[in-house]
Amino acid sequence: MFSDPTKILFQFSLAHVDNRAVIDDPRFRFVDKNRVCHFFDEWSLEECRETDELPWLMLPNVYQRHRISSLTATFLCEKCAKHSDFLNGTETESTGVSFGDGGSVSSFHERMPKAELHLHIEGTLEPELMFDLASRNRVALPYKSPDEVRKAYEFSDLQSFLDIYYQGTRVLLRDRDFYDLTWAYLQKAHEQNVRHAEIFFDPQAHTERDVPIPAIIDGIHQALRDGEQRFGISSKLILSFLRHLSGEDAMRTLEAALPYRHAFAGVGLDSSECGHPPEKFTDVFARARDEGLFVVAHAGEEGPPDYVWQALDTLGASRIDHGVRSVEDPALVERLRSQRIPLTVCPLSNVKLRVFESIENHNLPQLLDAGLCVTINSDDPAYFGGYINENFQAVDEAFQLTLHQLRTLARNSFEACFMDESRRSRLLEELDTIFTAGGTLPIRCDPGPS
Ligand SMILES: [Zn+2]
Repeated sequence: MFSDPTKILFQFSLAHVDNRAVIDDPRFRFVDKNRVCHFFDEWSLEECRETDELPWLMLPNVYQRHRISSLTATFLCEKCAKHSDFLNGTETESTGVSFGDGGSVSSFHERMPKAELHLHIEGTLEPELMFDLASRNRVALPYKSPDEVRKAYEFSDLQSFLDIYYQGTRVLLRDRDFYDLTWAYLQKAHEQNVRHAEIFFDPQAHTERDVPIPAIIDGIHQALRDGEQRFGISSKLILSFLRHLSGEDAMRTLEAALPYRHAFAGVGLDSSECGHPPEKFTDVFARARDEGLFVVAHAGEEGPPDYVWQALDTLGASRIDHGVRSVEDPALVERLRSQRIPLTVCPLSNVKLRVFESIENHNLPQLLDAGLCVTINSDDPAYFGGYINENFQAVDEAFQLTLHQLRTLARNSFEACFMDESRRSRLLEELDTIFTAGGTLPIRCDPGPS
């Protein structure tokens, strides 16, 4: 009927239920004898976590063919409506059991509120919008159709991606273009339950084409303000320097942007990593810190752990973008862990740019096991095959993340962002209610052959 679900989270909504008594309750029986054994093998009170006053049980690898009559509970199958029907139908007594959201099915990572902390706005340029803007601005593209653009998105490394990426930016000329680009992202972010976004922009990719800095910043800034009003997405804009250019060029860019300081909150460092160590940018980052800007930097994506050390100690970065190669240096891992320095990890990007051969080879589980403050992000979603939820889905499928790990990743995203404490607390509370909502039983399952 059904294959093993990956995990089940039960919440007994009877606040003072004795777990043992419930299990011993003859009304709480299982349809299939073989599966009863499996259930009891896997279930243990040690796995019970107290959340508020309600007991929670994490039940890995358990079948759901059981009767439930004594619980007032809601089932939510995250992956397949078919399974919901199964639970809703003949196999489960329906007394006191109802389905969350009227039976709607969505996966857990989609339902979680979350923050996106590593996103290049230029990397959200979908091929269709690229064509619209090219036509509006009369820019010739070397492609005949959006499909042809997509076909070109086979990259061998970071540089091969950057070559296409910079070509795409050529259609962005006026503030309206930057507005439309940002607005398209915010609509997507809203659909994916992103509540806060910290967004990079690369002014040097545009100023070298004589696009004035105010047009870039005004267009993005206005869209972010509208996104906050319309969707409730709070945001920070991060001015990012292109590391393949010089430190002096970065300084000139910062100085040109400072009159618009109200519109951006931090500085970052991106583009070709190898051969361009963070220390190249010591002066401009010092200047940025003096201006009260927060500091993040890409490091340890293709570059060595030493670049992460430099980003921390020379640039003063309080968050590292990517940083996956940090695991090669135990002392660095310890520094990141003990100081809770977040890593904004971008799984689909890492595979697309061959940092890891496949998603199954990604070191996300290792980073989580090391106790690091890891977050999931989309980097350049139009180019890498997915926005934040697709990134979550990829790692969830590859590693069968527990609900606890998914919750940790979402919590980390709110811990790692730059926002006022009252909003942070509200978002964390909202996240917690997904796990502790009275009467909700999120059940994960994989449909097997029927
Ligand atoms: Zn990036």
